[in-house]
Amino acid sequence: MTDRNVPASTSSVADRPTPKPWIQAIHAYVPGKSVGADGRPLIKLSANENPLGTSPAALAARSHAVVPALYPDPDSTALRAAIGAVHGIEPARIVCGTGSGELLTVSASAFAGPGDEVLYVRYGFSLYDIAARRCGATPVTAPDADYGTDVDALLGLVNKRTKVVFVANPNNPTGRYTPRSELARLHAGLPQDVLLVIDQAYAEYVAPEDDDGALELAAKHANVLVTRTFSKAYGLAGERVGWGTGAPELIEVLNRLRGPFNLSNSAQATALAAINDQAFVTHSRDHNTAVRENFVAALRQLGNRGVRPVPSEANFVLVLFEGALTGEAAYHGLAERGYITRWLPGQGLPHGVRITIGTQAQMDEIALALGQMVETAR
Ligand SMILES: *Cc1c(COP(=O)(O)O)cnc(C)c1O
Repeated sequence: MTDRNVPASTSSVADRPTPKPWIQAIHAYVPGKSVGADGRPLIKLSANENPLGTSPAALAARSHAVVPALYPDPDSTALRAAIGAVHGIEPARIVCGTGSGELLTVSASAFAGPGDEVLYVRYGFSLYDIAARRCGATPVTAPDADYGTDVDALLGLVNKRTKVVFVANPNNPTGRYTPRSELARLHAGLPQDVLLVIDQAYAEYVAPEDDDGALELAAKHANVLVTRTFSKAYGLAGERVGWGTGAPELIEVLNRLRGPFNLSNSAQATALAAINDQAFVTHSRDHNTAVRENFVAALRQLGNRGVRPVPSEANFVLVLFEGALTGEAAYHGLAERGYITRWLPGQGLPHGVRITIGTQAQMDEIALALGQMVETAR
């Protein structure tokens, strides 16, 4: 009947399936919130979505992508061809994922397991910890250099157990950017059997002349995977589309691990139209750069009150509160004024609030509000 009949001597047999210990050690990914503590909807500047929305051409393509009864193309063939055309990459070197998150996860699972180490910088993207743990590997974090990637610190932690190194460029949640020369130096210092994953989720926001050379590294070397996403500058976070590029042998391994029909019909059609509307991406970048620079300039006025924006090349700014106004108080104060941002105590940054770049009017209001808050804080 029930487990009550099980003799005490076999009580070491669990009464339900037991997750592997490394799975039990995972803290689920914490998404950016969209409502306040009281359930009130707030302006969402917590998940680095595009305040300009989505390319109109992509929206039009999406509304025509209705064949729900049929499975999608399992290989996202047309989309991969279009991505390849825009970036000058052979489609055999491209894999699509349910968001780039799927590709980050399967790249760790493919090359690391129990006893192995997965390395990245502290104050990095929280998904790397999950990706490492879910395949039983040990996550190892290197110290940062003023919230940015410290190549020497990373290289200093590489050992025989290291299988995968993750670098986000620009980095999330700090916004710091690793220049081409440093990225090349990191790659050159890694053993050839260590996979370097360069997560370029925010690459479209970087000025083209500051290109970090990641796609060239992936084109030349067997141990480099570059991931990109449609969730940020392309304004398609809800469609869940990402892609990665690397050597054909590497892509073939990831194809074995990704979901078989991982991109829906709608996702493929919408992303295809989006990648062919590069004018929207350029407009999004220009808008972001201008609004971010104005916002950072406004925050610098509060420098003598301990408010410090970390230099950012992305569509968000990590603001440090090192004076009387704490990160926690700033976060709650902004929520009271209708803005949900991202306070980061869970990532070792209790003094940090990450704020997505919204519209100019929104950022002006936030800068003004923070100015008022530092006046009254003590
Ligand atoms: C947002 C983000 C991604 C993208 O995730 P998707 O699964 O593509 O939506 C990847 N890496 C970093 C660092 C991010 O901030």
